Amino acid sequence: MFLPDLHIHTPFCGHAGGEMEDYVAAARRLGMPEMGFADHLPLFHITDPSLTMRREDLPAYVEKVRQLQAANPGFPIRLGIEADFIAPHLDDVAKALASHPFDYVYGSVHFIGDWGIDQSRFKYEFERRDINEVYELYFQHVAAAARTGLFDIMTHLDVVKKYGHCPTKDMSDVYNGVGEALAKSNVAIELNSSGLRKPVHEIYPGLELLKIMRAHGVPIAFGSDAHKPAQVGQDFNLLLKHARAAGYTDYLTFAGRERVPWQL
Ligand SMILES: [Zn+2]
Ligand SMILES: [Zn+2]
Repeated sequence: MFLPDLHIHTPFCGHAGGEMEDYVAAARRLGMPEMGFADHLPLFHITDPSLTMRREDLPAYVEKVRQLQAANPGFPIRLGIEADFIAPHLDDVAKALASHPFDYVYGSVHFIGDWGIDQSRFKYEFERRDINEVYELYFQHVAAAARTGLFDIMTHLDVVKKYGHCPTKDMSDVYNGVGEALAKSNVAIELNSSGLRKPVHEIYPGLELLKIMRAHGVPIAFGSDAHKPAQVGQDFNLLLKHARAAGYTDYLTFAGRERVPWQL
């Protein structure tokens, strides 16, 4: 069986290609038991139609997923969403999340303050800062995001490494702190293959971090972060090996914000 891909974007976000039908066809062709869309919820601290769907498009996104569910009986298509952790705007995020019956909510940390850490136009900021401090700050944001209770899964857990910047000191205390926060808050993590397509050429999260998550009993889900239909399920054979290498024997999907366990 092909592992289900829960992290699939759509043209609503302004930086993904293809039609939503094409993403569904790709997942079905691969033989996934189910799939889930999780497009970018609008941001509330800035408006940038190249980063997320527009606020007024959220109902249309939900409606389009509903149409695809109706058109594909027997093939569950989950309604997910990816929401940014922006500390001053959590009320807005909570309101948006409560306005539709999502099957699951991904939390992501794309911003440290105003700095969009995964945007190439702001890559220079890595050269101006102490990398170890950036890592510490980034993972403080991840732990804080988990504690909000707004998210079911944290996506691309170590996206801070996207451009290949590595910490120069041991981060195990930091990683253990994150594992503890995720476990206590009942938040899962995602094995995300998009890092393999980025300058770092690594799965998110790396094996060391993933093993620490396993030690804390943090469960996993699988996502490609597809922004093109051809990326659906991409490198999932490598994600499976990665999960097993860290000692995982099961994983999750979600329905109605409830965890559904599966054997690996
Ligand atoms: Zn995106
Ligand atoms: Zn994403």
